[in-house]
This record gives sequence, structure tokens and C-alpha cells, in this order.
Amino acid sequence: MEEKIKEIKTSFQEELKNANDGNSLESIRIKYLGRKGLISELMGKLPTLSADKKPQAGRELNILKTQIQKELEKKKSELKDISLDKKDTIDITMPGVLPEEGKLHPITKTCNEINDIFISLGFRIAEGPEIEKEFYNFEALNIPLEHPSRDAFDTFYIKGDTLLRSHTSTVQIRIMEKTQPPIQAIMPGKVYRPDAVDASHSFMFHQVEGLLVDKGVRFSDLKGVLDLFTKRMFGERTKTRFRPSFFPFTEPSAEVDISCIICKGKGCRVCSHTGWLEILGAGMVNPKVFEAVGYSPSKYTGFAFGMGVERIAMLKYGIDDIRLFFENDIRFLKQF
Ligand SMILES: [Zn+2]
Repeated sequence: MEEKIKEIKTSFQEELKNANDGNSLESIRIKYLGRKGLISELMGKLPTLSADKKPQAGRELNILKTQIQKELEKKKSELKDISLDKKDTIDITMPGVLPEEGKLHPITKTCNEINDIFISLGFRIAEGPEIEKEFYNFEALNIPLEHPSRDAFDTFYIKGDTLLRSHTSTVQIRIMEKTQPPIQAIMPGKVYRPDAVDASHSFMFHQVEGLLVDKGVRFSDLKGVLDLFTKRMFGERTKTRFRPSFFPFTEPSAEVDISCIICKGKGCRVCSHTGWLEILGAGMVNPKVFEAVGYSPSKYTGFAFGMGVERIAMLKYGIDDIRLFFENDIRFLKQF
């Protein structure tokens, strides 16, 4: 019996040393402490020993059993620590995993750029609702119900006289209703038109409009502001051209062109070989608009302008399809 106990001790120590995971520890436990394990087996043999050897052998077997239990527990917690250590260890030689970097959408970027230029000229940002009353989208802007120009600013009607605004000029009316001149503000935001979607049309796009009202504001002030804007937006060498046009809410009105940023005025496909690109509409605020908001047209004059943010972004970045802005294709958006 003594021999046997020694043998078990040695083989147990050997096997324990080589165990390096929970599974091998468990099979060792079963082998030695299990119901049919080596210790049990020896215990079963105790009755066959002579009376003087029995107590001694019994005691030794119990000690061995406790020892094996303790050592198994100890090894188990050691293995646990090692695996925890492994988890916590940072291999500083490994290349890092870069987190995906978020970016502003090209429209947001362009809009911010436009805003910043006007803010630096003393304009403040004004915002208004996208769901509007017919009055703010049409009547107050000198577009009466029967007027043919209403077609150009047609929109989506929601219910009765509620609609989605088709231009941010609605915000101009809202500011003037609430504030007395001088007013110097820009109105960025989304607008809606029932246009069929194609490479240059979208049912929703963005505008930035501007309004300046004070005593003695002249057309030359408008030209100066827009000339400065186009130079900052498209480069110092950009030239501007004002062509007579018609808008119901301005008189006189003009379309503003810039010298083509692709061919620098020589003529190319983008500018239809004219050397000029149309970028915005502008004019002096129609006295009828002042009357609608309760300003005295004999006391105040002002100018207003409006541009499509998508159009500016398309020219600036050389994008030929407006739909790309709204398809959310990460390969496209990543480029800005
Ligand atoms: Zn050109």
C-alpha cells in the first residue's frame, strides 16, 4: 500500500505539471479523485489490510486525497490568471486598428463654406420652417395665385394652404415681419420642387439666400457683395457677369454668371462654350414685398440673392450628377 501511494503521488505531480488547460485538469481529477478513480480504488482495498496497518494507510490516503484536491485547485487558478494575462497584454508591435473617420457631407461642407463667407461680411444666419403657409411661399413674395411665375416655384402641397417651401425666400418674409431694418441675413436650408429626378434636377435640394435691407442700399452694393463672394468661393481670378432677368420678388432682377472655372472663360463643354456659368439669381427687393411685411418702400431699399448649394458644389468639385449627393454611396462621399 505504501508503495502504491508513493506511485500515485509521483504520477500525479508529473501529470499536473504537464496540464495546461481546464480540460486536462478535469481528466486528472477524474483519474485520481473520481468515483472509480485511483484513490477510491485504494480505499476499497483498505479492508484487506491487517488491523495494525489499516489506520496508518487510511490516514495517508486521506492526506493524499486532500493534497491532490488542493493542488488541482491551485493549478486551476494559475491557469485562469495566465489566460487573463494573455487577454490584457497589448502587443505594441502590432499595427493599430484605425477607427473609421466620419466626415461632413459635401453639401454640408459647401453650405458651411458659403455661410462662412457671408458671416465674415456681417450677415447672420436665419432659419425657418420647411413646412410653410402659401402666403410665405407666394403671396408675400409678390407671386399672386393667378400669376404665371407661380409655376416656376411650384411645390408639394400638404393640406389646404400648407406646403413644402419651394425656396428659402419664405424666411426673408418671416424675418422682415418680426424685425425692423437694418437687416443683413442669409437663409440656408432645404427646399422642394415637384421636378422629375435626373442628372441636374432633384425634388429636394438646398439653397442659401441672402437679404440686406437698410436706408440707401443700391444695386452696386449687391454687385460688390456677390463679386466678393464668388472670388472667395471660386478663386481670386473669378469674374462675375450680371444679366437682366425676372423674379417676382425683385426689381430689377439679374442672373449672375461667373467666368467658367474649368476653361477660365475660353469655352468648354461644361459652360456650353460660352465661357460663363450661371450660379445665382439676385436683385433689388420689390417694393411690393416691403409693403407685404409693412416696411415703407420710400424709406428702405434692399437686395436679395439666392443660390443652389448643389449647383455650387457640382461646379466646385466637378460633379456631373446631382443624384450622387443623395445616394449615400460611401465611395463617392469618401472623396470629400
Ligand atoms: Zn468652360
